[in-house]
Amino acid sequence: MTVIMKAREAADEVYRKIALEVEACKQKGIYPTLAVLLVEGDPASAYYAQAKRKVAEKLGINYELRTVSAQVSEEEVLNILEAWKTDPTVHGILLELPLPPHLAGRHLENEVCAEKDIDGVNHYNQQATITGEPGLYPATPQACIRLLKHYGYTLEGKNVTLVGRGQTVGMPLFHMLQREQATVTLCHSRTPDLAFHLGHADIAFVAVGRPNTVRADMVHPGLVVIDAGIHETEDGRIVGDVAPEARDRATAISPVPGGVGTLTTAILFENLMQAVRGQFEEAWR
Ligand code: NAP
Repeated sequence: MTVIMKAREAADEVYRKIALEVEACKQKGIYPTLAVLLVEGDPASAYYAQAKRKVAEKLGINYELRTVSAQVSEEEVLNILEAWKTDPTVHGILLELPLPPHLAGRHLENEVCAEKDIDGVNHYNQQATITGEPGLYPATPQACIRLLKHYGYTLEGKNVTLVGRGQTVGMPLFHMLQREQATVTLCHSRTPDLAFHLGHADIAFVAVGRPNTVRADMVHPGLVVIDAGIHETEDGRIVGDVAPEARDRATAISPVPGGVGTLTTAILFENLMQAVRGQFEEAWR
């Protein structure tokens, strides 16, 4: 029977640790605060911003959501990010992506200061993700690996097929998997025979953004599948990149929803607490 790798338990473990740490912070007079900049125009981003508020409230974390119009100027965005960078009461900064067309491609994520960049999007943290040096690593690739390990699977020496080389998930995950000592095959839109590469894999990570990219007939019975895709269908269902029929064929598979996305939110807040520690090292000695 296929193991369905739900993330609730792993996420709750993360939240329990965070709640204790938030309490310890408050006893030292530190009130962990996350500032989120939402540029209007993308309904999914607005939904995620509100969802994070609910989590922050449960954890006792201050949550400052600044919503600006879709016509906001680049200068105004830079001013807000700069003000948060220099504000000692703000410990984490999140710029909700995607940005509207006039701001996309301006690399504004590099203006999120590295020590507060809980999404791991700034150049410094991207580089750290590649090299393994200390830094804030992006949450979704971390969630993919954490979920796999939570279910007892290991990566060292395994044949891993990674589908997708996007900047948010695929590329950072590629580097992290290398450091886990996996042998990684990276597939993308020009890969002619995805089934071949999945056929040789022990573990597959899929981060494409298209439902049914991995069909049931591409999945063999020994395969463990982590599906990072999130896609809303026309009838409002949330599905991943792997066809639902593949569920019964794999050894284990992560569900969508309730898999990688669930753990990603928890790890974002874990990154916030790492940022807090980084900014108040004295208080922890
Ligand atoms: P992205 O930047 O759009 O990259 C998509 C990748 O998929 C590209 O490398 C593309 O190849 C590849 N691709 C497209 N069609 C393909 C095909 N038919 N076969 C094989 N590869 C194909 O995407 P992203 O931002 O990394 O996000 C990937 C997915 O993760 C999306 O579904 C997104 O919603 C989801 N996501 C989930 C979370 C979470 O919390 N769970 C967070 C962030 C993102 P080329 O490079 O050749 O174009």
